[in-house]
Amino acid sequence: MDILLASHNKKKMTELKAILDHDLEGVCVHSLDEVDLNDDIVEDGETFEDNALIKARAARGAAVKAGHPDWICLGDDSGLAVDALDGAPGVYSARYAGGHGDDAANNACLLRNMAGVPDDRRTARFVCCIACVKPDGTETTVRGICDGVILREARGEGGFGYDPLFYIPALGKTFSELAPAEKHAISHRGRALAAMAERLKESEKETKMNTAIKQYPAPAPLSSGQRAYLRHLAADLPTIMQIGKGGLTENLAVTVSDALEARELIKLSVLETSEWTAREAAEALAEALNATVVSVIGRKLILFRRPLNKKNQRIELPR
Ligand code: IMP
Repeated sequence: MDILLASHNKKKMTELKAILDHDLEGVCVHSLDEVDLNDDIVEDGETFEDNALIKARAARGAAVKAGHPDWICLGDDSGLAVDALDGAPGVYSARYAGGHGDDAANNACLLRNMAGVPDDRRTARFVCCIACVKPDGTETTVRGICDGVILREARGEGGFGYDPLFYIPALGKTFSELAPAEKHAISHRGRALAAMAERLKESEKETKMNTAIKQYPAPAPLSSGQRAYLRHLAADLPTIMQIGKGGLTENLAVTVSDALEARELIKLSVLETSEWTAREAAEALAEALNATVVSVIGRKLILFRRPLNKKNQRIELPR
């Protein structure tokens, strides 16, 4: 899976890669540097979702232009929302004091604007929204939130932005006083990334399932001689998989499809505890995967499907 993150920021790339690597196999994370999008993306949305989508769509345009229409494109936007300031600085977090990304000025501006706010009304949250544009054009967004309180003076050395003023009562520390991994585990960004990784995992499963099913042509009918020949070949095959209680899950269908692609002829068995009979499982798998049921005997079933990759074809059927 190739993912393009709408950012030039190396730290964000590393963070995204770490969490996706943990959850997904074979992920390759690309940055905007690889698709020649050097102009600043204008983030003029009114919500974090708007801005995240603006970035993800810009990345999508650049990916297609660069010849990578199959890349999944992500954009993120985050900021601080303070209750006593009706959600400000919100989408203006990076430029609250005027200039872009002047952390010291932004923090001073925040403290000034909250000077008269009593301790019990200084609640706030960091929000991160991540948007995804998939190769088929589908758009989704997820949100991660981390609640805290705005202090009256800065505490701690680490982090960036509003971290020294953002206090987590349950930990007794500001974001600046947390180690990067500690912050990541509870932060708005960490939570949004985890939610997006979950979505991507689901989407990967869906893609695999679609590939497993859709690419294979409907099978040609077998003559009785061909069926007998396959039954004969299958007599010595080991049972490569057992269908358990869950019956025909997506994961099982994908695994069976992979096995058919590699071996053409496979033998499976259905456990006693399964809610499925071998006949039901055989027919459901054959229909889902465009395979042929060669035979069903007791709890065993034999499936056959010609591989897409002709090099894998091992069986010469009699005429
Ligand atoms: P960005 O959308 O991630 O670039 O964040 C926009 C602005 O929100 C930053 O410039 C910071 O001022 C603020 N911000 C976002 N996330 C954090 C964080 O984890 N700590 C402190 N400030 C943050």
